Amino acid sequence: MTFSALSHLECSRDGSRHDGDVVQGTSTLGAPLLARYDLDQVTVTRDEIASRPPTLWRYHELLPVRDPARVVSLGEGMTPLLDLPRHGARLGVPGLRMKDEGLVPTGAFKARGAAVGVSRAAELGVKGIAMPTNGNAGAAWAAYAARAGLDALIAMPVDAPEITRRECVVTGAELYLVDGLIGDAGALIKQAVAQRSGYQDTSTLREPYRIEGKKTMGFEIAEQLGWRCPDVILYPTGGGVGIIAIYKALLELRELGWITGDLPRLVAVQAAGCAPIVDAFDAGLDESTAPAHPHTVAFGITVPKALGDFLVLDAVRSTGGTAIAVTDEALLAAQWQLARDEGTWVCPEGAACFAAVAQLRESGWLDGSEDVVVLNTGTGLLYPDTVPVDVPTLARDGVIPDRG
Ligand SMILES: *Cc1c(COP(=O)(O)O)cnc(C)c1O
Repeated sequence: MTFSALSHLECSRDGSRHDGDVVQGTSTLGAPLLARYDLDQVTVTRDEIASRPPTLWRYHELLPVRDPARVVSLGEGMTPLLDLPRHGARLGVPGLRMKDEGLVPTGAFKARGAAVGVSRAAELGVKGIAMPTNGNAGAAWAAYAARAGLDALIAMPVDAPEITRRECVVTGAELYLVDGLIGDAGALIKQAVAQRSGYQDTSTLREPYRIEGKKTMGFEIAEQLGWRCPDVILYPTGGGVGIIAIYKALLELRELGWITGDLPRLVAVQAAGCAPIVDAFDAGLDESTAPAHPHTVAFGITVPKALGDFLVLDAVRSTGGTAIAVTDEALLAAQWQLARDEGTWVCPEGAACFAAVAQLRESGWLDGSEDVVVLNTGTGLLYPDTVPVDVPTLARDGVIPDRG
């Protein structure tokens, strides 16, 4: 029995083969490397998977870690796929569901990529991971690095959610704040890694295994629906790893014969203040161009130029999906309305997808009969400032007004 059926890495541009059992960055073309598996070696059945513990490691044959003893886990994965009857009815999409990634360790789906990426880095002998981040990825990688006994060097914009600084500090990471955007943080990390031995640059899509961890969101959606696909999946897209990964997951499941038929239409959702992928989609281009002054409250998707933009556009186009931008005003309104309808406080990035569902229903792109899954990529608790609070404070002898 092989724990991992990992075969090799493949360049996402020219398909060239690269060794998966040494530390790798991007391909010689500077493109992301994608993990490929020997699917003939995957003899596990769907029923056997169902009997495994409810973490993302239940799909270990399709993950890159070779030695079970090297798995670094905080219990991540198998998040709920929630029905949203009240909110779905309000939007005219009764088949609306939410995959709630607010429940993973560190409160954002970044934990999936970190669990698998850190496990594999440690297995391959890396001593320290180094990365730029908009906050949540750094917090997650810092947590899993601590769990694995690795060093973590993190650089993030000063504007990143403050809680993520604290998460990095409490888990012992070496943290730097950068007066700029994630790209500026990336340049500093690149420089630092060149000077430090044993450190790996784990920037988005510059190491091959983060995407493998995120892929498990796609496996879980299919498994939770009884090995069936929804019609549409919406994903808040920054660097695009999650949407590329879900697409990759579904292709692997189809090749295994575990799902059949059409893949879901994949929708890349961005904030109007930073929507390079939407612009490229609308213009019929294969690559994006960074906007001049990117800004949105949905900080996790403030990525002006994603290394994997061409892969996101391919995932969207190949599945008959679309790319759509929503304003901060619309996404904040969606965040409030969803919390009132269903009792769940989602992150602004997740909220952007609910605003997008409303827009797509209005435009007729959704006709209301579809099974629709929204990825809520994190908990609203990470972004307390998105909800201003103005409530009366009662003095000791104050009274609560009678509303009876
Ligand atoms: C990082 C992040 C995203 C964007 O993720 P990608 O997969 O890189 O596009 C979305 N939401 C939250 C909360 C994030 O932290």
